Amino acid sequence: MKLRFLGTGTSHGIPVLGCDCRVCTSPDPRDTRYRCSALVEGELGERVLIDAGPEFRLQALRAGICRLDAVLITHAHADHVHGLDDLRPLCRKNPLAVWASKEDEQELRERFSYVFREGQEGGGKPRLKLCELGPEGVRIGSLQAIPIPLEHGERRVYGYRIGPLAYLTDCSGIPEASMRLLAGIRVLVLDALRERAHPTHFSLREAFAVALELRPERLYLTHICHDLTHGEVLGLCAAAGLPFIAEPAYDGLSIEFI
Ligand SMILES: [Zn+2]
Ligand SMILES: [Zn+2]
Ligand SMILES: [Zn+2]
Repeated sequence: MKLRFLGTGTSHGIPVLGCDCRVCTSPDPRDTRYRCSALVEGELGERVLIDAGPEFRLQALRAGICRLDAVLITHAHADHVHGLDDLRPLCRKNPLAVWASKEDEQELRERFSYVFREGQEGGGKPRLKLCELGPEGVRIGSLQAIPIPLEHGERRVYGYRIGPLAYLTDCSGIPEASMRLLAGIRVLVLDALRERAHPTHFSLREAFAVALELRPERLYLTHICHDLTHGEVLGLCAAAGLPFIAEPAYDGLSIEFI
């Protein structure tokens, strides 16, 4: 299995428009962060996209994505779904399944009403097939994706467990029942916005505490804001003395595991 990080930044992306802080002006390419998204590839070549944010087209060009088998949505916040229209060239021949929770599915139908309204045949809209995701999840070829309920402030959102991988972005809490669904994971991708606490995202310290409970082999932090450079987050990960590999993810990082 392969995981490629397409975007690892918080909702405004980095650099932040109009900001001249040292992170937003950093020459390190790992400090340029598009909005959060990832591509999971299975052993049979299955390609599953998690979220399609405003930079989806640029991310897809960069990663050479020319085919997708399914899209998994974590939640309908703008930074995770407003690139859905750019899926158009990838679903010209066959409709593309977009899996989301019942609430997010309804929100997407409203937000993208032109896509799901009859008419305008032959152009101008992507052929998306919105599918409601139940607790049993969905099988895409050899990959089984299980939705993991998460707390994003007061909002319920979903992470995904796919075999040994857990991709958990935009969360400030993980219910006990969800922790049980994560038993035995080996690669953990976790929201870690910044050092200071935030009402709807884990801070670094909170992310480390969750990871210590789950004990993965590797921890990758994502949805990072412009408080810290990649190098500084790396330093804080090392200083935490965690008993597993812990690093900030960055756009374009690709990892393989079995
Ligand atoms: Zn977000
Ligand atoms: Zn900045
Ligand atoms: Zn969000």
